[in-house]
Amino acid sequence: MTQRDYGNEYGLSTRAIHVGNDVDGETGAIKRPLTMGNAYQLPYDPSALNWSSPDGPLLYTRNGGANQRYLEQRLASLEGTEDAIAFASGVGALSGTFLSLLSAGDHAVFSDVTYVAAYRLLHEILPDKFGIATTIVDTRDPANVEKVIRPNTKLVHIETPGNPTLGISDIAAIARIAHRSGALLSVDNTFASPYDQRPAELGADLVIESLTKYINGHGDALGGAVAGSRELLERIRAIAQVNFGATISPFNAWLIMRGCVTLPLRMRQHNHSALEVAGFLDGLDAVSFVAYPGLSGARNHGVAARQMVGGFGGVLSFGLYADHETCNRFVSNLRLITSAVSLGHDESLIVFLGEDDERQYLYPEEFHRGFFRLSVGLEDVEDIIRDLGQALDNTGLGS
Ligand SMILES: *Cc1c(COP(=O)(O)O)cnc(C)c1O
Repeated sequence: MTQRDYGNEYGLSTRAIHVGNDVDGETGAIKRPLTMGNAYQLPYDPSALNWSSPDGPLLYTRNGGANQRYLEQRLASLEGTEDAIAFASGVGALSGTFLSLLSAGDHAVFSDVTYVAAYRLLHEILPDKFGIATTIVDTRDPANVEKVIRPNTKLVHIETPGNPTLGISDIAAIARIAHRSGALLSVDNTFASPYDQRPAELGADLVIESLTKYINGHGDALGGAVAGSRELLERIRAIAQVNFGATISPFNAWLIMRGCVTLPLRMRQHNHSALEVAGFLDGLDAVSFVAYPGLSGARNHGVAARQMVGGFGGVLSFGLYADHETCNRFVSNLRLITSAVSLGHDESLIVFLGEDDERQYLYPEEFHRGFFRLSVGLEDVEDIIRDLGQALDNTGLGS
C-alpha cells in the first residue's frame, strides 16, 4: 500500500513517521485521510472474495477498514513482524488471540502477573466456559514454565514488565522452552512498547499491545494490536476480527496513527524521567519499596537491561509506610499528577491499588499492604518530583 518501501534500512523513528502514510491519491494531501465510510464498493463479481484477507479489496469496516490497514502496516514495521491486526482495545486483541488459537482440550501457561482481563480470561473464563486448561506460574524464573508444560500445551502467555508489579520475565529463555514442546509464546508488550522492547526479535510468536497506552500516547483513544507471522495472524483475523467484532474504529486508528509518530521521542523521555523518579522515591524514609526494572537492585535487572533495548519504560510501583486512609490522602494531595487508571499518557497518572485486589495473592510480599502504580508522564521531571515531595510533606510523610 505504500509507494516507497520503508524497509529495515530505516531506523525506528523514521518508520514510525513514514510507514503506512502516503500521499492521498485523490487530493494530493501529504497525510492519508480519515475514511469513515463503513462499506466499500464491491467488484463486478463479489462471490469469490476472501472477506478477511489483509491483501484483498476493502469490503466492510468490521472486516478491516482503510485507516486500520495503514496502522497495521506501521505496527508490523515497529514490532519487526510480517503482519499486525489492530483491534478495538488491548483486551480485544488478548481475547481474540486466545479464543482463536486455543480449543477445548488444549492447555495454556501464563504469567502470575498479567493485566486483569488476561488473568480472568485465562484463569476463569477459558477453563470454565470453553474447556481450556490453564496453569499460572511465576515466569520471572523460566524453569517454572518448563515444569508445567504438558504435551497439549499450545500457548505460553507472559507480560513483561508485568502490570502492576513490574516483574521481568526472560523472553528469549521462555521462547526456547515453549518452542521445544511445540507451544507458541505470546508477550504482552504494553509496558515497554516496541521502542523499548521487541519480543518478536527475541523469539516470541505473537506480540500484544494495548495501543491505548504508549503507542497512542495521548490518553484520547482506545485500541489494541497483535503482531506476528502472516500465518498465525490469518487464523486470528479469520476468527476474531470477522466473528467477534472487536474492530477498531477508523477514527481511533487515525488518532493512534498520529499519536505513534512521536513514540520514539516520547519513550526516550518516559524512560529518562521514570528512572529519575524511581531514584528519588527509593531514597525516601516513607517509601517501603520501589518496583522499577531500571533500578540496579531490581530482581532480573540484568535480564531487563538485555532485552529492553530502548530503556526501562515509564511505569513504576511503590509503597508507603502508611495506612489505607493516609495513602488516599497522599493521592488527594497531589496537584500535578492525576489520580486515574491507564498509563503511557502524556500526563503523569497515579492509581492507589488497595489491599484487596483479586490478584493480590499472586503479588510479591511487599505489594500486600497496598501500593501505588505511577505512570511517569512527559512533564518536566523536576515538577513531577516536586509534586510527589509536597504531597508527602502535606500528608505528614515528609522526611
Ligand atoms: C491496559 C492494558 C491492557 C488492556 O488494554 P485496553 O486497551 O485497556 O483494553 C492489556 N495489557 C496491559 C499490560 C495493559 O496495561
